[in-house]
Amino acid sequence: MSDDPRRAVPRTDEVLASDVVRTAAAGLHPEVVRAGVRRAQDRARRGALAVGDVPTAAAAELAPRAEEVAVLNATGVIVHTNLGRSALSRAARESVLAAGGYVALEHDLATGRRAARGDAVRRLLLDRVGAAGDALVVNNGAAALLLATLALPGEVVLARGEMVEIGDGFRLHELLAGAGATVREVGATNRVRVADYASALGPRTGCVLKVHPSNFTLHGFTGAPSVRELAGLGVPLVVDLGSGLLAPSTVLPDEPDASSALQAGASLVTFSTDKLLGGPQGGVVLGDEALVARARRHPVARALRADKLSLAALAATLRQRDLTPTAAALAARPDDLLARVRALQAAVGGEVVDSVAVVGGGGAPGVELAGWALALPAPVAERLRVGSPPVVARVQDGRCLVDPRCVAADDTGRLVAALQAALAG
Ligand SMILES: *Cc1c(COP(=O)(O)O)cnc(C)c1O
Repeated sequence: MSDDPRRAVPRTDEVLASDVVRTAAAGLHPEVVRAGVRRAQDRARRGALAVGDVPTAAAAELAPRAEEVAVLNATGVIVHTNLGRSALSRAARESVLAAGGYVALEHDLATGRRAARGDAVRRLLLDRVGAAGDALVVNNGAAALLLATLALPGEVVLARGEMVEIGDGFRLHELLAGAGATVREVGATNRVRVADYASALGPRTGCVLKVHPSNFTLHGFTGAPSVRELAGLGVPLVVDLGSGLLAPSTVLPDEPDASSALQAGASLVTFSTDKLLGGPQGGVVLGDEALVARARRHPVARALRADKLSLAALAATLRQRDLTPTAAALAARPDDLLARVRALQAAVGGEVVDSVAVVGGGGAPGVELAGWALALPAPVAERLRVGSPPVVARVQDGRCLVDPRCVAADDTGRLVAALQAALAG
C-alpha cells in the first residue's frame, strides 16, 4: 500500500495497453478512449474505485450505452417514452440505413432541379389520412403544434381542462406562451361549453385549439364540445391529437384520429409520428393548404425541420402494408400472448400470471389491454436490466413481470437467453 493513493493509480499508457481496454477501444476515436481512461483514473484517485480495477472500469466507460444499445421492452407499455416510444419496423430500419448515405433529399433525380424536402412523406400522409390539403413534417409533436399556432397569429383559445402537461415538466400552454402566443383560457377544469368559446372570440382571435388529453382521464361531471361543434364557430380550429392515429382504430375506438377530425371541420391537425403511428420521432401539421403553406414558410419552421433519417423512416412506415411493431403490440391476442409466456416458462420456470398492458405516454389513457406475463422473483428485474441485451421488465407487487407483448417474435430467443443468464446470476 502506498502512502499517497494517487501514486498507485496506473498511468494512462499502462491502462491503454491492458487487454480489456484494447478490446473495448477497437474502432473508437482515440480522444474518446483517453477520456474514458481519465474518468476511471479520477474515480480511483477519489478513492471511489480500487486501483486494480481501473482497466476494467475504463473498458466499461467505453461500452456503448443509452442511445446506442437496443433494449428488449418487457414492460407491457407499448409507447414507452423512456425506451424511445415506438420500435421501428424492419422496413423503416432498412430505410434509415440507406438514408445514411447521400440521398436525393431536395433534389429531383428526373430533372436535376431542386425539389421540396419531405415531398414523398407529404403525399403518403395525405393518402393515408384520405385528405386533400397539405402536410408538413417537423421535429416532433410539440414543434407541429407550435408551427400550427404560429401560422395563425393572435390569441389561442384553449379550454382549461386541456392545458396538458405532456411530460418532464413541459406544458403545452406554456410552450405556446413561450413562443409569444397569448393563450385565452375558457371553461372550467371539468366542463367547457361552445358558448364559453364563443364569448372568448374577437378581433384578436388567432385560432381555437382543441388538445387531446392523451395522458389522463376525467371522470364524473365532465363535458367538452366536439370538433364539429367547435368548427361551427367560424374561426380556424387546430386539433392537437397527440397520439397520431391516422384513421379510426377498432382496437382503440375512443382515440381521436386525423381523418375524422378533418372531416368534422378541423382546419389543421397536429400529431406525433412516434406514438400510435409507430414511426420515428416527428410531428405533423396536416390540413388546410394555405395554412400549412404559412406554417412551412414561417421563419421558425427552419429551426424545427425533420432530418433525412427520420423522413426516410417515416416514409417507409407509412408505405408499408404490414403492421408496425406498435400496431402489432396493440393488436396482440391474449391467446397468443399466453402461448408465448408458456414457452418462456417452459424454458426458465416462473409462474404464468395475467398482465394488464397499457398504450403508455402515447395516448389512450385508461385503456387496459388484457394479456399474460411470466412472474419471477423481484431481484431478477435488476439483473435483466444490466444484462446483455438489457431487458426492461415491470416490477409489480414485489415480483418481476416479463410481458412479451412488446417483444418482437424474432427477439424471443434473445429474451430466453437473457432470462437464463439473469436467473443463473
Ligand atoms: C405527445 C403529445 C404532444 C407532444 O408531442 P412530442 O412528439 O412529444 O413533441 C403534444 N400534444 C399531445 C396531446 C401529446 O399527446
